[in-house]
Amino acid sequence: MTGRGGRPLVLVIEDDLRYVRQLRADLELCDCRVAVAGTGGGGLRLAAEHEPDVALLDLGLPDGDALAVLGGLREIGEAPVIAMTAWEDDEGIAQALDRGADDYLPKPFDADQLLARLRGVLWRAPGAEVGAWPPFESNGLFVDFAAAEVRKAGRPVALSAAEFRLLRFLARNRDRVFRPAQLVEEVWGPEYAGDRHLARVYVRRVREQIERDPGAPRHIVTKPGVGYMLRTRE
Ligand code: CA
Repeated sequence: MTGRGGRPLVLVIEDDLRYVRQLRADLELCDCRVAVAGTGGGGLRLAAEHEPDVALLDLGLPDGDALAVLGGLREIGEAPVIAMTAWEDDEGIAQALDRGADDYLPKPFDADQLLARLRGVLWRAPGAEVGAWPPFESNGLFVDFAAAEVRKAGRPVALSAAEFRLLRFLARNRDRVFRPAQLVEEVWGPEYAGDRHLARVYVRRVREQIERDPGAPRHIVTKPGVGYMLRTRE
């Protein structure tokens, strides 16, 4: 997927053995190497010794403040950090992103969601390579990234280039909430970052084309006070 001569090394900092087992299995399927620490302190030692390509950090660690561990990882190296949180922990998610996490992964998750997150952060990392993105499909919405094709319940949807870029970004980062300003910066570029109404306008346009009822959207949902996400689960 990336990296310095072959299989990326993923550092997992997680104390819950069920997740450790799942992550090991999923990551090995993705042809990643895995290093595991059950504590924040152990994770920081492994990060310093092995220079992982990416770190997965549980925000609920037994030995204290996971946000301090996040800061420590940031000081040690350049590896992107994905914070693992409880599904409804909006506050934890916001704190982790504010403190420099590159992405977050809500629990429980499946191998596809994990791989999408890894691709996302490694793709944004300087020099990283990424393979082709598999098509996205959720509740009748289909996005073929390579062919720039969108279908709703089997029928083609003709999006403008900017509308497609917005939908593509949300689909690649499914189930992750983005603040409007962040969305504008990612989709249109930093020079548009102040223009956050772009996000509102384009989300509405895309909803009008992909949602059965744009007034009660099922795909692109609003998280009040936070932003927008393309949701694939209830
Ligand atoms: Ca935990």
